[in-house]
Amino acid sequence: MAEKNELQTCFRCQYVADKDDKYCIRCGAPLKNKCTKEKSLLHKGCSKVNKADAKFCSDCGTETTFSQWGLF
Ligand SMILES: [Zn+2]
Ligand SMILES: [Zn+2]
Repeated sequence: MAEKNELQTCFRCQYVADKDDKYCIRCGAPLKNKCTKEKSLLHKGCSKVNKADAKFCSDCGTETTFSQWGLF
């Protein structure tokens, strides 16, 4: 069962990275658009990976990594 190795493109420099990479090895930008809501006393935190064009988390409405990095 050879699954095709999905690739992902860096949002900032267009480098084509491996599917499992978390950060671009060319420019250091995050490759996963994760929710930035951190764990706190009141919330267990949210680490949802959102679509690449999401500025805010679809689960909790917190800013995403890409938005925080100013990649839009
Ligand atoms: Zn990059
Ligand atoms: Zn969230």
